[in-house]
Amino acid sequence: MNRPAPDKRSPLPPGSLRARFVLGLAAMLLPPLLLSAGAFLSLQATTGAAQKVLEKAIRGFNPVAHTGTLLLMAAMPPNDYLIHGEPSEREDFARLSRNVDQSFQESLAEPFALAEERELLLAAQQEWRQARALADHLLALPDPAGNPDAARDMERMDAHIDRAANTLAQVLDVIRRGMDQALAEARATRQRLMLLIAGAFVLGLLITIGGTLLLTRSVLAPLRSLEEGASRFGAGDLSHRVDSGRMPEEVGHLAQVFNAMAERLKEKRTALEALATHDGLTGLYNHRTFYTLLQEELARATRFKRPVSLLMLDIDHFKRVNDMHGHQAGDVIIRGLSELLLRQARAIDRVCRYGGEEIMMILPETGLEAAAVIAERLRAAVEAQSFDVNRGAPVHITVSIGVASWPEADSAQALVAAADTALYAAKNAGRNRVNQAPDADGRVAAC
Ligand code: GH3
Ligand code: MG
Ligand code: MG
Repeated sequence: MNRPAPDKRSPLPPGSLRARFVLGLAAMLLPPLLLSAGAFLSLQATTGAAQKVLEKAIRGFNPVAHTGTLLLMAAMPPNDYLIHGEPSEREDFARLSRNVDQSFQESLAEPFALAEERELLLAAQQEWRQARALADHLLALPDPAGNPDAARDMERMDAHIDRAANTLAQVLDVIRRGMDQALAEARATRQRLMLLIAGAFVLGLLITIGGTLLLTRSVLAPLRSLEEGASRFGAGDLSHRVDSGRMPEEVGHLAQVFNAMAERLKEKRTALEALATHDGLTGLYNHRTFYTLLQEELARATRFKRPVSLLMLDIDHFKRVNDMHGHQAGDVIIRGLSELLLRQARAIDRVCRYGGEEIMMILPETGLEAAAVIAERLRAAVEAQSFDVNRGAPVHITVSIGVASWPEADSAQALVAAADTALYAAKNAGRNRVNQAPDADGRVAAC
């Protein structure tokens, strides 16, 4: 068996089972891979952006809140000085004032996300500076208690401090709003991510189901087709062919091998059948097949009440022909006679080699009289024929024919016996003649 050599240039032919498996598995792996990549990227984007906003917000929040606290603390020493007139309040204020200045510097150094925050911070610082100037003026007074100008300046200073504190509170509000917005965006991205994961999961599921069905169909359907083919071959149906057209390459190749095997088996069986049913020298039906055909014709004749006749034909003095021209020439004549009879026979007639140079012709749908006419025509045709045996002059032969019919003879054996008797009578009557089987009274009619 010559298998086609595998194609080295293409290790994965597109129609092959291997290619289908690789493609199917790759398709099944694609959704989880896409899912992982999408989830990873989304997560990065979400956490990255949210993290940046929150980091900025947290870093900015603490110094601003601290500045607000220091600011309120710094307002205390001038107020106390106005009530008690303690000179130590000047040092306290100077220290707290430095702290507030430093805290403002630190707050302004933060990388705020919005320009609004920085502007508010600068406005608060401005208020603080005005408050500090008033505080310095108040703390420089030698006797502040009960001084109505000092009390008015004190109120102005407190108002500046309040505005500065309120402005810082606004900065904290802006920062808080930014944090809330970042959290809301993170939440929205998380929802999108969940949707993406759910979508990829459903897609993956569908592709996996589709891929599995496709692979199953790709493999199981061709195998089922092969299995059916094998069953039919096993049951003797050698005409069946497996359709290898849309099969994967490997199974398709198997199907082609299968079909080629069936074709050869069919040829061999046909040849064997021909050998078993036909005669080797003449190609006519052989002795065994003659009886099979005769039984069939008699069964049909009985069923439909139709006549059937039998001609038994024997070459006259054939021993002499062999003696004079040789056995091979005798073979040529038997073959030539067979061809002549086949030419003369109708399509429904059956011509069989019964024995040596004896030939049977089954004539369906033909009664005794009509069969005798046909037999006479055949006899005359043989007599008129010259056989070229490649040795000198052409040879002429004659034949004697016995005719018998159903229902006159009511079985295969009776029919053959009747035709034989008629043939024997024809021989006795001088040969080269046709004789009918004896009638009910045992009389044989020569035609
Ligand atoms: P008859 O007229 O009485 O039939 O005389 P016959 O010589 O033909 O006698 P019979 O039919 O009994 O003999 C048949 C002869 O045919 C015997 C045999 O030598 C010859 N024969 C039988 N089969 C073959 C064959 O296949 N080839 C050849 N060449 N001769 C055969
Ligand atoms: Mg003979
Ligand atoms: Mg004979």
